[in-house]
Order: sequence, then structure tokens, then C-alpha cells
Amino acid sequence: MMPASTEILLIEDSLAEARLLQEFLQAAKSKQFRLTHVKRLQAGLEQLRSRSFDIILLDLTLPDSQGLASLAPLNKIAPSLPIVVLTNTNDEELAIEAVRQGAQDYLVKRQVNTEVLVRSLLYAIERKQAAESLRSANEALQVQFQERSVELAKAQEANQVTSEFVSMLSHDFRNPLTTILLSTGLLEYNGHRLTNETKLTHFQLIRSAIANMNNLLEEVILIGKADVGKLQCNPTEFSLEPFCRQLVSEFQLTISDRHQLIFSSFGEFPKQSWDESLLRHILTNLLSNAIKYSPAGGLIKFEVTAQATAVTFKIQDSGIGIPQEYQKQLFQPFTRAENTDTIPGTGLGLAIVKRCIEAYKGQISVNSEIGLGTTFTVVLPLPETLT
Ligand code: ATP
Ligand code: MG
Repeated sequence: MMPASTEILLIEDSLAEARLLQEFLQAAKSKQFRLTHVKRLQAGLEQLRSRSFDIILLDLTLPDSQGLASLAPLNKIAPSLPIVVLTNTNDEELAIEAVRQGAQDYLVKRQVNTEVLVRSLLYAIERKQAAESLRSANEALQVQFQERSVELAKAQEANQVTSEFVSMLSHDFRNPLTTILLSTGLLEYNGHRLTNETKLTHFQLIRSAIANMNNLLEEVILIGKADVGKLQCNPTEFSLEPFCRQLVSEFQLTISDRHQLIFSSFGEFPKQSWDESLLRHILTNLLSNAIKYSPAGGLIKFEVTAQATAVTFKIQDSGIGIPQEYQKQLFQPFTRAENTDTIPGTGLGLAIVKRCIEAYKGQISVNSEIGLGTTFTVVLPLPETLT
């Protein structure tokens, strides 16, 4: 196959010069050249708009444009096209300036012959191509660099979150461990001086410290599972209303006389499949918060409403409320609001609630006012009705 000829756009007002160049090109043996000749810059720009060329040969003195002023409009229309400027013997400096401003080469008119012309054209095309690929490689590199920077920032952020998580976790483990250490020490070295009653108290302290640690561990494992997408909804056939009633009576055993926990349900509850473990995590955390953050006691309302396609759970307390500015962080593990004072907690409960609700593809919202109370509303889409 014949290699395609090199398409040249010659912008040159002198017909004689144009003819001379045409003759030089026709004499070229190494390659085929096709010359399109126009006399004015405007005509050259029109040619560039209508078809494609490999190179521009540009005279720097044109009737409608003088000197370097021709370069900008040409570059604008055909930024990747190489330009070789043609110049007279007396304005070589201008030609050098043109090269500085982006032209690939210059030819002094009286010194041109076939060999010089062909070499200049081919080199110009090659140089421009090299410059273009360098530019696009550079651009690609910059994009890559930006992407890498973003990745790096994300990784650093993740590391930061992980290390915060670990430091808080170790802190929360240390408390029960200290209890165990103190109590066992006391029992071991001073056992003979302790009454049976005191001994029992210490054994109970140890037991509850171990239970605390176990809970904490399970919660962290749950969050870990959720974060790697392994917390899934595994529904089994299950009656929702009795389950809620049972949960409430378990809570009623533990609350003080100051608290009143009232359960009500609305709507029809057909037999459905639910994930009991997820439900338990969601409801026990919300109910225990409602009780815990109502230190002065008061009414806690737990309402369940069955609708056609979803069930809504509403847990309302008249406790201390959640500060507005903390509400953004409510579901972040290990965070707690400032108004919790001496009320104990690790800040994991709601993080777990949120993840369980996500596993259910449900939604949670909160409405709270300092000193007045808090209402959490959870909407879980109904699993398929069992037949
Ligand atoms: P735990 O891990 O033992 O549940 P926690 O109760 O502190 O600890 P979350 O249940 O995640 O943690 O709650 C996070 C924070 O949100 C609480 O520390 C508290 O500041 C605030 N909060 C949650 N529920 C209520 C509520 N019903 N009333 C007021 N504040 C609440
Ligand atoms: Mg809690």
C-alpha cells in the first residue's frame, strides 16, 4: 500500500514563491506531498475548518496578517498541527521568535531547496507529534497523580478512623479489666479478712465486668461485619407483635419505679418473616437509650404500626434530649453527646442500630429537643408475607 501523501497548507501571498515550493516538492523522491495554496490568512483558516492537513507552511508577511499575529488564530483552529514559517533573509529574527512561540521550524526563502524543504517538513511533523504525545502523557500522568492523591487521602482517613476506633476500644476494655484486676487481687491477698458478703460482691463485680467486655466485643464484631457487608438479613417466620410485647416485659423487669414503659400496636400484623436478631439489636438499643437518657424517670412510649408495605416503630422518651449539633454524628461509633454527664455508655448502640437498619433497607429518623425528650422512628419495609 502506498503511504498517504503529506497534506500541506501553504499560506503565501506570492504566487511565484508558491510555484517554486510546488516544484521543490514535486522533485521529492522520498515522499509524496500535496500542496494546497491560499494567499490570505482568512482563506487558510477556512481551509483548516473544512478539511484536515498534516502541516502548515506560513509566510509571515500576508496582506491580511502581519508577522507573529498569524500564529495565534492558526493554533486556535488547529492546535495539534505543526507550523513551519517562511521568511525573507532580512527578517530571520522574526522567524526565530515564531519558533519560540510554538512554530516547529523556519525556512529562509532564498535558501530553500527540495532537500531542505522536505527535511524541514518531515522533522516538523515528527517534532510536533512527539510534543503532542508528551503533552497527553503528561496530562494522563497528572490525572493519575490526582487520582492517587485522592486514594491516598482516603486511605489516610480510613487509617485515622481505624486508629481512633482501636484507641477507644482499648479504653473501653480497660475499665472492666481494671475492675477484674482489683477484685481478684483483693480476693487473692485479703480473702481471709473479707466477709462472705463482700466476697460475693467482688465476684459479682468480676462477673459483670466480664459480661461488659463480652458485650463490647460482640458489638464491635457486629459493626465490623456490617462494614464489610456481611451483616445480612436472615428472616424466619415470626410474629412481630408478641415479640415486641415480650421485649417490653423484659425491660419492665429492669426499670425503676420512676419509669413507665408503655407499649401499643396499631394495624394488622399478619404472620411474616423477620430477622429476629437484627430486630432485637435495633429495639433493645433504642429502648435502653430511652430509659438510660431519662434519668429523672418519666414516660417511655413504644408504638408499632403495621402498614401495607412497612412497619413503623416509634420510641419516645421525655428525657434529656440530644443536642442539635451532635445529631449529625449520632450514628458514628464511639461518639456521645456532651449532655450525657455521668450516664455511662460506649457510644456503640446507635452505630449498631443504624447498620442493622441498613441491612434491612429501612430508615431511621430522630426528633429531639434538649430537656424535653427524644423520639426515634424506624421504618422497616415489610418482608414478603408468608402464605
Ligand atoms: P452504648 O454503646 O452503651 O449504647 P451510648 O448509649 O452512649 O452507649 P449510643 O446508643 O450509640 O451510645 O448513643 C449515642 C449517643 O446519643 C449517646 O451517648 C447519647 O448522647 C445520645 N442519645 C442516644 N439516644 C438518646 C436518647 N434517647 N436521649 C438522649 N440522648 C440520646
Ligand atoms: Mg446506647
